[in-house]
Formats: sequence, structure tokens, C-alpha cells
Amino acid sequence: EKPGLELAVVSVPSYACQRHTPLLHHNITLTDALSILADNAELGENEGRGVAFRRAAALLKSLPQEVRGAEQLRGLPCLGEHSLRVIKEVLEDGVSHEVETTTHSEQFKAMKALTGIFGVGAKTADRWFREGIHTPSDLQRSGHTLNRAQRAGLQYYDELNLPVTKSEAVAIGQIVESAVHAVLPGAEITLIGGFRRGKQTGHDVDFLITHPDEGREEGLMPKVVSWLEAQGFLLYQKTTGNSYLESKEGPARPASNMDRFERCFSIFRLSTDNEGRENQTGRENQTGRENQTGREIQTGREIQTGREIQTGREIQTGREIQTGREIQTGREIQTGREIQKGREIQTGDGPQTYSPTLTNTDPHTHSDSPHPLPQTLVVVGDHAQKVSWVLGHSQCSGPRSWRAVRVDLVVSPYSQFAFALLGWTGSKLFERELRRWAVHEKAMTLSSHALYDRKRTQYLRASSEEEIFAHLGLEYIPPCDRNA
Ligand code: ATP
Ligand code: MN
Ligand code: MN
Repeated sequence: EKPGLELAVVSVPSYACQRHTPLLHHNITLTDALSILADNAELGENEGRGVAFRRAAALLKSLPQEVRGAEQLRGLPCLGEHSLRVIKEVLEDGVSHEVETTTHSEQFKAMKALTGIFGVGAKTADRWFREGIHTPSDLQRSGHTLNRAQRAGLQYYDELNLPVTKSEAVAIGQIVESAVHAVLPGAEITLIGGFRRGKQTGHDVDFLITHPDEGREEGLMPKVVSWLEAQGFLLYQKTTGNSYLESKEGPARPASNMDRFERCFSIFRLSTDNEGRENQTGRENQTGRENQTGREIQTGREIQTGREIQTGREIQTGREIQTGREIQTGREIQTGREIQKGREIQTGDGPQTYSPTLTNTDPHTHSDSPHPLPQTLVVVGDHAQKVSWVLGHSQCSGPRSWRAVRVDLVVSPYSQFAFALLGWTGSKLFERELRRWAVHEKAMTLSSHALYDRKRTQYLRASSEEEIFAHLGLEYIPPCDRNA
């Protein structure tokens, strides 16, 4: 009997777009390790190396069972020498030395924290790091001139690094729908990105908007944005017009990753009133009170290290908290303290205090002191309270009833809808693999706008994702299996 060889006989195709990659898989320890190395490579602007680690991780995600020994990997594609070495180390020792070194390195921690600020990329973060700026608080103190996006990113840093839940995504969807229908009845709104792939949390919420009468969607975004702004739903927005038609980007020149749709990168002000109503007093503290929302923080998954602040909503495996999306400012939340709906953080010795590391930047208060007084922890069971607690709100303003959420809006002409849908559903690696497959295996160019056949020198039309997969000679992979 050779149980070790089981996987080797399974033939696994080498492009991620040829495989089913579900959200939940069997090799999380290994993929977590590889994804840290991928993050590190990308932060060091070594894209090729990053992609190699991501491909290796994606391969492991698609396997039908847990890998227990390196011999099981024989014959599998996508596993480069470096990735294999890391995998073997983790399999044998439980950890990889390189991964440990990386996660503990000041540079990696600083780069993650700084690029965790909306509007800050690897280049900028690296420049700041070399000036001695390691955290958002350092940045705030530095007096650097920031652009509008970065100012918003810093202002809402903590909240934007809290995962957005599915129910928050649905609530945002209702607002977007109201806005779109107010300015263009008949327009269609589709939830895209990670939530379309079945994720229960995300770093943002993505929507694709179109209208069955081609042309009606033109100029839609500024109107939607005005409506949202007038209603007070926007904390930040940057709208970019459609530049597809004017672009010189012909079919011969493969489209870049960036598409040219009319789009809006924004930060929404999402009211949390509905959810907060149950404990409006913010003072309920009944030991043994049932968690009535059904949003349990699972045993053993409470705040464990001070690095993960879980929303306590349907986070099942911990995988949803992505590296880099955790709260990274080193705030200590001590092991074993539960944050539950309607309960205080219980320690048995009175109220806990907590010192925020960021200046209070809530526009509704005027506390600009860089050394805010420690805030008394009030009830933090609900997300809203948790946010105000994280931000350390001034006590006179009370817990706030809204949170900031990153939202991406994209408008596509109806004839390009299927391409836009496919291109914006992700994952990023899955998209990259689709384009690579198209070019190298089919001599076609795929973008979020179109599919061009270079041999037949013509565009291939499609009104559904299924048709695009068929044009590409690929088995249809549903969104829930695109989690490469
Ligand atoms: P998360 O849950 O963390 O938000 P996600 O998969 O939704 O994960 P996003 O960064 O929101 O990640 O991206 C969603 C999709 O949109 C991806 O498939 C990505 O390829 C696409 N996308 C993101 N930004 C752009 C862009 N500027 N131009 C074109 N496509 C983009
Ligand atoms: Mn997203
Ligand atoms: Mn997005």
C-alpha cells in the first residue's frame, strides 16, 4: 500500500482557471505560509516571485485532501523549488524558518501596516519605512503631506481594516441600488469581487452596474455619486470616467490589468443603527445573556493574539481574516477576553481601559490631541460599538452609529457586461491565469472589456461568463470555485 502516492496519480491541470478552487480547502497551514512569502515579494516589488508563490498556494487550494508528506506532491504542477522547500519545511517542522523570519521582520510588519492604509502602495510605504516611519501613527506624527485618498485612509484606518461582513455588503447593496435606481431606472446592479465568490467577509464591497439599453449607462457614475453624496453616504470618492473608446489600446496590445470602465473607488458611511438598536444603551452586561444575533464568536476563536480583531460574524475558519487585513497596530487585546454581543469585556476586575494609538480623527469630535486619554471600554458586543471602541471615541460623543466601508463601483456597457463580470469577480490570481491561458494557449487577448482572437483577427462576443469560458476552450468554473 502506498497511501503517499495517492495525490500524484491525480492529474492536476497547471492553470488555475482550469481547476475548481473552493473557498474552504484542506491545506490552510501551507497556503498561509506561501501567501506570507507572496505578500513579502509583492511588497518588495518582486511581482514575478509573488506570482510564483501565489500559483503554488493556488495549486494546494485546489487539492481534494490535506497534503501530509512531500512525496504526495510528486508530479504536481506550479510548485517551484522555493515553494517546495517551504512546503517541506512546514510539513516536517510545522513552521518555515523563512516565513517566521519574514513575519517577525520590522520591515515586513511596517510595510504591511503602511500599505494597509487606503491609498498607499508599496513604493510609498517603502520610502516612508526608510525614513523611519513604521506605523500609521508614525505617519500621522511625521507631518507628511498626504493626498486625499491617503488622508481618508489614515482617518479611517482601523475601520477599513476591520473585515466587511456579508450583511454589511448587503446593506451597502441596498444603498447602491437606491442610488442607481433614483438616477437610472432599469439599471442592473451585481455584487462582484470576493462576495460573489462566496466569501463571508471582504476588505471592500464591489458592484458592477449596467443597463440593458446600451448607451443609457453613459455618464451614470457622476449622477450616482451626486445622489450618494447628497444623502450623506460618502466619506470619500474618486470617480474616473470611461476611457475605453479613446484609448489607443488596440487588440494587438494586450489590455493592462487596469480596465477602462467608468468607476468609483469610495468609502461609504454605513449606518449601524439597525444592528445597534438592541443594545442602544450600550450598557447591558448580563452575564449569561444569550447571544441573540446568532453571530457567535466561536469557542477558541476569540481574540487570541491581539492581532486579529474578529467581527464575530460567521468567521468560521480564521481564513477570512486575511494577512494584512488584521489590525496591525499592535494593540493588545488580551487572550481569553470574549467580545460578545451585549457583554462587556469581562475581566472580573472592573472596566478596562484602552489607549488608542491614533489621534481621534472622528470628524464629529474635535479631539486633535496626539495623546488622547485612555478610553473606558463600554459595551463592544456590536460591531458599531467595537468600531467606536477601536477608534477610542471621545466619551461625550458616545458610541457612534456608523462605520466606514470601502466600496468599488464599476459601470459597464451592456455588450461588455459578461467580460466585466468575469474580470471583476476575481480572484486576482484566477483573472491573471485566465489572461495567461488566453494568450499562451489560445492566441487570444482577454480583458474586462472584450475577448480578441488573434488568429481569426476578430472580437468574440459573449453575453454570459459561460460563453467566454467556451470561447477559451475551458470548462466553466462557477464563481465559488474561482478562489485561487
Ligand atoms: P476582498 O474580499 O479582499 O475585497 P476581492 O477578490 O473582492 O477580495 P478586490 O481587490 O476587491 O478583491 O478585487 C476584486 C476584483 O476586481 C479582482 O478580480 C480584481 O482583479 C478586480 N480589480 C480590482 N481592481 C481593479 C482595477 N483597478 N482594474 C481592474 N480590475 C480590478
Ligand atoms: Mn473586493
Ligand atoms: Mn475592490
